[in-house]
Amino acid sequence: MRVLVNGEEVGTKERGCALCGATWGDYHEEVEGNELFFCCDMCAKEFRNMVQEVKRRKGWERVEELEIRGNYYTGRTCVARSRGRETKFYVRFGDDGEVETFRDVE
Ligand SMILES: [Zn+2]
Repeated sequence: MRVLVNGEEVGTKERGCALCGATWGDYHEEVEGNELFFCCDMCAKEFRNMVQEVKRRKGWERVEELEIRGNYYTGRTCVARSRGRETKFYVRFGDDGEVETFRDVE
C-alpha cells in the first residue's frame, strides 16, 4: 500500500509514520498485506480503523493508495484509491482511536 502524508511518501522508519508522518517511535504493523511503520500503536489503530471504514462503506476489497492531509486536531482529508477507483473523504478520530467523524468530500 502506498501512503502519502501531506505530500510526502511515508510508512517506513526513515520516511515517517503512515498516519502522522512522525519519525520517532518504533511500531510496525501489517496492514492490507504491507508492513507499515507507525510512531505508536494509536496511530496504527486509527489507520486500521480508517482503512476498514473505507472498505466497508465502498465495498472495496482493499485500499491500494491513501493520500492523507491534515492532523489529529483538524481532522484529515484523504483520497483513497483502489483498482482505478477513487474516493475522497474527511475523517476525524476519537480519543480511543475510533472513527468519530467520516464523511464523503466532493
Ligand atoms: Zn503517528
